Amino acid sequence: MKNIKLHWQILIAMVLGIIFALIFKEQTVYVQPLGDIFMRLLKMVIVPLIFSSITFGVAGLDTKSLGRLGLKTFGYYALTSFIAIIIGLSLANIIQPGMGVQLSDSTEAFDVSKLTTPSSLGGIIYRMIPTNPVSAAAGGDVLGLIFFSIALGLAITLLDSKRKEPLLKFFDSFFHAMMKLTQLIIRLAPIGVFGLITKAVTNTGFELFKAIGMYMITIAIGLSFHIFIILPLIFYIFTRINPIHHFKAMASAMAMAFSTSSSGATLPVTMDCVENKVGASNRITSFVLPLGATINMDGTALYECAGALFIAQILGLDLSLTMQITVVITAFLASVGAAAIPSAGLVMIFIVLNSIGLGDHPEVAIIVGTMLAVDRPLDMFRTMVNVFSDSVGTAIIAKSEGENDLYPETLK
Ligand code: ASP
Repeated sequence: MKNIKLHWQILIAMVLGIIFALIFKEQTVYVQPLGDIFMRLLKMVIVPLIFSSITFGVAGLDTKSLGRLGLKTFGYYALTSFIAIIIGLSLANIIQPGMGVQLSDSTEAFDVSKLTTPSSLGGIIYRMIPTNPVSAAAGGDVLGLIFFSIALGLAITLLDSKRKEPLLKFFDSFFHAMMKLTQLIIRLAPIGVFGLITKAVTNTGFELFKAIGMYMITIAIGLSFHIFIILPLIFYIFTRINPIHHFKAMASAMAMAFSTSSSGATLPVTMDCVENKVGASNRITSFVLPLGATINMDGTALYECAGALFIAQILGLDLSLTMQITVVITAFLASVGAAAIPSAGLVMIFIVLNSIGLGDHPEVAIIVGTMLAVDRPLDMFRTMVNVFSDSVGTAIIAKSEGENDLYPETLK
């Protein structure tokens, strides 16, 4: 096993997990803890990793390049998210997956009350500022944590060098210790993924997929188009490097995004791939990736838009142009606000629905319940797209900042 590359090990573990789940069904409860333990280990490093990497990343920048980096980063996030949304919008209008959908008896099985509806759009922006950074960290409020880490990093850049140096050294070592810990955990990935996949296969029935098959196909086509055509194209335009190198470099992170359905849990692996395989500097990765994992979600953005139109179609509504534009904008905000955890995107769809007055429609809860039931495979795919987009952005920005020795393993 040692000589096989990690992403192949993960892939083999996935296939074995599927086979195992199909053969042993009930007995899978015995291996599922492997996945849970692995997820706990990954989650364990997220808060200190984000805190140390962003603070160190920002503190190490000079104020001039911070503005430039920020502009490029947010420009990239907005560009790719809106392209993704337009793809979702177009496909939902062309394929019209919600036409003729019968939501049958199976819908009652899902407890929609479990979904927590996000209150408002303003809330997302408001929420970014933590009243207490320690409780933000303890409560897993990643957006708040990022806000505080950037603010602290900025403050450090403004210190005189006598005070600044020891702090920089401290965060440098702390960050690298976290990366080391992460790498140790990642070695367990094949075992963890085996457990995760078994669980996913056992818990999701196949009948439901058929009921809303067209909806799933629409999303899958959109996501494929974005990850295999649009993002590689953008990558090539800005870097002039063959995108294959990037796909190869990111293989482990992709496999991890797919099996955990969480950009947050994948972040340690994403950072590892981008620093070691893509070869981008820590200065860029530590700024672009944690932020991207939290707010740049192309897959989720596409999904919010197509999903909301799907619901409107089932309800027999023909959305006007203004309403569709509202959907586009709120889909973007919903993707920014979605947490980097499994199924977060589905919950955020209420924000989009509220904006066009559908939030309280009596049938919406049932439809969303059904969507929840088939959400896992879509979530796996959109998380991959989310993570891939962050990594492409990092590579593009690294290149634009004059880093020319990228992809040291494959590009000579
Ligand atoms: N699971 C996705 C992620 O972590 C978010 C979503 O549900 O769309 O990136």
